[in-house]
Amino acid sequence: MKEIVCKLLVIGAGPGGYICAIRAGQLGVDTVIVEAVKAGGTCLNIGCIPSKALIHAAEEFEKLNHMAGAKSPLGISVEAPKLDLAKTIAWKDGIVGRLNSGVLGLLRKARVKIVHGRAKFRDGKTVEVETETGMQVIRAETIVIATGSEPVELPFLPFGGPVISSTEALSLKTVPQKLVVVGGGYIGLELGTAFAKLGSKVTVVEATSQILPQYDAELVKPVAKRLTDLGIRVLTGAKAKGLSGNTLLIETAEGAEEQLAADKILVTVGRKPRTEGWGLDELDLDRAGKFLRIDDRCRTSMRGIHAIGDITGEPMLAHRAMAQGEMVAEIVAGKKRSWDKRCIPAVCFTDPEIVTAGLSPDEARAQGYEVRVGLFPFNANGRAMTMLSEEGFVRIVARADSNLVLGIQAVGSGVSELSSAFALAIEMGARLQDIAATIHAHPTRSEGFQEAALKALGHALHI
Ligand code: FAD
Ligand code: NAD
Repeated sequence: MKEIVCKLLVIGAGPGGYICAIRAGQLGVDTVIVEAVKAGGTCLNIGCIPSKALIHAAEEFEKLNHMAGAKSPLGISVEAPKLDLAKTIAWKDGIVGRLNSGVLGLLRKARVKIVHGRAKFRDGKTVEVETETGMQVIRAETIVIATGSEPVELPFLPFGGPVISSTEALSLKTVPQKLVVVGGGYIGLELGTAFAKLGSKVTVVEATSQILPQYDAELVKPVAKRLTDLGIRVLTGAKAKGLSGNTLLIETAEGAEEQLAADKILVTVGRKPRTEGWGLDELDLDRAGKFLRIDDRCRTSMRGIHAIGDITGEPMLAHRAMAQGEMVAEIVAGKKRSWDKRCIPAVCFTDPEIVTAGLSPDEARAQGYEVRVGLFPFNANGRAMTMLSEEGFVRIVARADSNLVLGIQAVGSGVSELSSAFALAIEMGARLQDIAATIHAHPTRSEGFQEAALKALGHALHI
């Protein structure tokens, strides 16, 4: 097969890789992208998108169930809903399929050459790809590694049989009666909540003393309350120890042994960078822990090789990968760019949702700032009342000396859509007065954002 020679080769067409290739193509860079599985990567095929589809279906089902139980104060009653999970999954697969062809179409439109197969480095400028029609050699001036991440497997709970990862959980054809989730982080709680709403009896086993340990206790409290209301049993400080048939053996926080019978055991104890299988040993790139070490231009320790996305470290989020991909494409095209983002917002799609952007009060204090914190609860917000979603709050952290906003957090129903306003405020260097003086449309939950700023300034209007 004839060698391909190009200016830019991107390995992996997840959010990091495909954005990098599209932007490079737009800028006229002769670009090739190699993908071993499906364009869109983890996020589009087995991550962000399918999980949010399942979460939405579960929310709708639970709402109807709630009304059928004549518990709705809205005066609406319905017959008990029925669920055909296979159909739900087929609907989800349809969305994934549409997005998948959309990404391929965008790559073609940007004149990016797509090669299907697994890439392996021969040396720092040359990659071999096993394609369906034989070995394809690609030589490139610059190579971007965007091979992403994969689920961590516990040695005593290998995936297979009843033990599943998020990938299998997003393609189940029937709702497991008893679901045990090992790991109460992002995936465990997003999917655990969805399955509880779909009818599973869910138990969450979390090793640390708090679910979602990356967030502060104040933010997590409304989520923990809702898990309890949904009948989910949450065991914190508990460790999975082993498996006997379909029974998970755990050690509780008190040191007692307990056996948890399950139809499925969903293991979500984190993800690890995909550093194997593509020839890292040939290159000997520097690492930062288990990740590839990069600088503020996503350059690795070898000239001409960049790395972006999950392979480069936390936070392992799709929008970080995309922002890195866009930046690297511009650098390859000759533009002066470096990583200058003030924050990477994060959203946890639990019920209620959690949003964070910038520093929490404790993080800001730990960095030596004297801070002013304003918190506005949704139970004082008219729109939240009309939507039966009064749980939660918006919280702003600002420097006490200048009112410069350092961080914004929220927990509440639908707050994911506030994440862009939060990130924009921080990115533009907003002060509390800027947010307080911006007219926020009434009645919306976003008014909680303005009120939190007013609260921090000492003159909130609705509390
Ligand atoms: P990936 O998306 O992992 O893509 C890497 C690609 O490289 C893959 O397609 C892979 O097949 C390919 N590849 C690997 N090795 C080779 C090789 N040798 N040759 C050719 N191709 C190769 N993030 C969010 O921001 N929001 C969310 O709501 C969210 N939800 C998630 C839900 C779940 C269940 C999971 C698992 C993850 C979720 N994430 C979410 C995380 C998000 O999916 C990742 O951060 C994101 O996909 C990382 O993008 P990436 O481009 O670095 O890698
Ligand atoms: P996570 O890091 O969010 O959570 C893992 C949890 O497992 C932690 O709470 C940890 O304390 C716990 N744990 C670790 N070992 C354990 C053990 N032996 N027994 C019990 N608990 C144990 O990881 P995840 O949920 O697997 O998600 C992986 C990554 O995917 C996330 O870090 C995030 O970057 C990304 N993601 C993002 C979103 C989103 O943005 N909404 C959604 C899903 C996934």
